[in-house]
Amino acid sequence: MRLLRTFLKVRTAVNSGQFLRGLHQKSGETELLKQLRSKLKATGPITVADYMRDVLTNPAAGYYMHKDVFGTQGDFITSPEISQMFGELLGVWCVNEWMLGGSPRSMQVVELGPGRGTLAQDMLRVFQQFPMMQGVVSLHLVEVSPKMAAMQEERLTGVIKEDNRDNAASGGDAVYKKRKTKAGVPMSWYSDIHDVPQGFSCYIAHEFLDALPVHKFQRTPQGWREVLVDVDDGEGPHHLRFVLSPSPTAASKGFIQAGEKRDHLEVCPQAGVLVQHLADRIAEHGGAALLADYGHDGTKTDTLRGFRNHQLHEVLQEPGSADLTADVDFSYLRHMCACKEKVVTYGPITQREFLENMGIELRLQVLQRNVDESQRKDLLSGYDMLTNPDKMGDRFKFFSITRQRAPPKGSRTPTEPAGFYTLEFQ
Ligand code: SAH
Repeated sequence: MRLLRTFLKVRTAVNSGQFLRGLHQKSGETELLKQLRSKLKATGPITVADYMRDVLTNPAAGYYMHKDVFGTQGDFITSPEISQMFGELLGVWCVNEWMLGGSPRSMQVVELGPGRGTLAQDMLRVFQQFPMMQGVVSLHLVEVSPKMAAMQEERLTGVIKEDNRDNAASGGDAVYKKRKTKAGVPMSWYSDIHDVPQGFSCYIAHEFLDALPVHKFQRTPQGWREVLVDVDDGEGPHHLRFVLSPSPTAASKGFIQAGEKRDHLEVCPQAGVLVQHLADRIAEHGGAALLADYGHDGTKTDTLRGFRNHQLHEVLQEPGSADLTADVDFSYLRHMCACKEKVVTYGPITQREFLENMGIELRLQVLQRNVDESQRKDLLSGYDMLTNPDKMGDRFKFFSITRQRAPPKGSRTPTEPAGFYTLEFQ
């Protein structure tokens, strides 16, 4: 039963039928809708990407900005929240990359979109188990939401502090908050990856890329046209509606690759710029990136969807009240990195393959040794949820960027990042 309940909480829920509504009754109004409507009336339709950005991160009324969106009370649950094993294995991944990088004296662990801070907490616990890593790691969190940053601070420092913008770190400083974890690891917060200091780093992004804004396009007899969002004062179910741009837009001219086969397309240029930036940092200063999300390898078309209370929610309905998310197109990310010399990309591979290669079964066995029956059941259901192909095992994918590296002469040490081949455990 518990397993089933957990499954239902994941952002893979099926349509509950709430898309059906009375013929002339419009969906509700939100603060953000009022803002959007005035803007649209003044400027005309906006791109889906602009709409998505506003819905998620508008400072006053964006979905992520002022509430805890996770867990049973929230709208969805993520892998790090399901089982500690997830974050622990990602911690082991960072340790392995640090060793492959020649065990430098300092390593930045940079997490993009850290949510409640659970993944960071589980990774940090792993680093503590390695005496040679003492004093090596600093944690750098890229988080746009003041509410989430406060939750991360509470989880990682153990202190509740509502006013989460640190005056000492503000005033034009790119770091907006500095703290130390319970174990004394230095931590800094930034709104943007560009503000994170350069240096040997492991970059971790779990369910971050899917929150970045996508442009949507449709192939028409006249060529590619961009989907836009406009007001709907007519009889549509919401106050907003999708329209097709009558002529090509800057995005439809610039973001569609030659030879594209699909008729409907989503492109997330912000994700493309991000992976190129990560590739440059890795080429220059060493380290690696691990990007995990639900996604595909250039095959899917219309994936943008909303989630509220663990149910699908229409994208244009009551903006700001529900999460918006689009599957990550990993073929696009690979393509964006292809022009970068000195780095290599790996994947996407499924979450199941990655976690199995990282030794999740062994970790499960170890953890089961000292627990009671109910904890044992939780561990098993978490394991199943993360790895079962019908649950999160196949939908979620892992993708990595590392420096090009050659094994030492005569050595059979793999040059791939851990998780992309089967680790041998003694
Ligand atoms: N990685 C976490 C949370 C995923 S939800 C987990 O797996 O549980 C997405 C996270 O990214 C949230 O913390 C949200 O506030 C943050 N976020 C969304 N858009 C962002 C942006 N443009 N810049 C920085 N953080 C962002």
